[in-house]
Parts: sequence; structure tokens; C-alpha cells
Amino acid sequence: MIHDFISLIFPDNCAACDEVLYKGEQSLCAACRVNLPLTNYHLDNENPLMKRFWGRVPVDHALAYYKFTKGGQVQQILYKIKYDGMKSVARQLGVWYGYDLLKAGFDKKVDLLVPVPLHPRKQCQRGYNQSAFFAEGLSVSLNLANYTSVLSRVSDKSSQTLKSRFERWLNVKDLYKIKDKSFIENKHVLLCDDVITTGATIEACARELLDHGAKQVSVAAIAAAE
Ligand SMILES: [Zn+2]
Repeated sequence: MIHDFISLIFPDNCAACDEVLYKGEQSLCAACRVNLPLTNYHLDNENPLMKRFWGRVPVDHALAYYKFTKGGQVQQILYKIKYDGMKSVARQLGVWYGYDLLKAGFDKKVDLLVPVPLHPRKQCQRGYNQSAFFAEGLSVSLNLANYTSVLSRVSDKSSQTLKSRFERWLNVKDLYKIKDKSFIENKHVLLCDDVITTGATIEACARELLDHGAKQVSVAAIAAAE
């Protein structure tokens, strides 16, 4: 009753379309859950995201829940997760996606989850890492451990804007460091991120994991640009 009363005064809204959520709906309304563009990459291992890593870094599976389009509703959801404090939405999407992956047997393919860390300054400003919340959701439905402190992102002191694309790439490559390799040695790691665009971050993290003894690396994101 208290919950009903509170939601009467402060109703939750759909993270995609902003409509007021009905009782029993969480994060997204029923219509958006049906209409948002799923990738279904977990059903096709030669998917477009997988191909993005060919020749760059060996990735076993490349997965994303939604297709990202500029100006679309998925972008709106990601924005709210990042800048409007809606970390619970990231977690909920992880839970839903985790059940899809569970049905496809990913709980047996992967050993543990590692979220892509945030820049320390951003983490401090935002107070949370949205990728860690997504990974936490996945860990609930896949029943796998989520190690949030295996990877760390070192501070980047130089200005990115003054650099060429190549220099920026060289820079990204050394930004992620393993803090404790004992958790990942000889394990299949599912690296979790919010959105994948060029894949440079994933490439750097995956390489760092593989260089420190991870047996295999797969990738899962809330969304990926096609
Ligand atoms: Zn909606």
C-alpha cells in the first residue's frame, strides 16, 4: 500500500518513452519492451558486432541487447542510465538480457563477469559505474560472479582533443590495467559495457585480460551501434 501511495505521487516513467509505468512494470513499459530493437546476436556468432573484432582481438562471443541508433529510444535509455542516475535501469536490462543468454546456454560457456571500469574522475562525479550495474543484472540471471575490481582504468593526464586518431588509439590501449589476475587466470571472462561503438575500449580491455592469463574473452553490452 505504501509503495502504491508513493508511486501515485512520484510515478516511475518508462526509460524509453517517458510514459507513466503501470503497476508491475519496471524500467520500461510493456509496449517499449516489445518494440525496442533487439540484436539477437546471441543466436548468431557471425553477427556484425563479432565481425568488428575480427583481426583486432580474439573474442569468443560478441553480444548486445539492443541495436543503437543515433537519436533513437535506445540512445535515450543510455543517456538516462548515464546522466539521470537511472542505474536501476541498467541492472534491470542486465537481468532481462541474462535470461535470454541463459536460455542459449551462456551460463555454461562463461565463467565470470568483469565490467569495463570508468575513468576515476567520472566514477567520482557520477557515483556509480553503469556497466557494473548492467553486469550485476546479468550475474543475477546467469548465476555467475561479477568482479568489479579486476580491471581498473588509469588516469589519463594528457588532453585527448589535441591528438590524432592514431595517438588516441595508442593512448586507449594502455588505459586499462589488471589489478588482480588470480580471478581471471584460465577463465572465460564476459566483459560487460554499456554501449559499443568503435570497439576500441573493448579491444584494450580484452587484450589486457588475455595478456594476463584469461583463457577466453566474450563481450556483452546494453547496446551496440551497427
Ligand atoms: Zn515506453
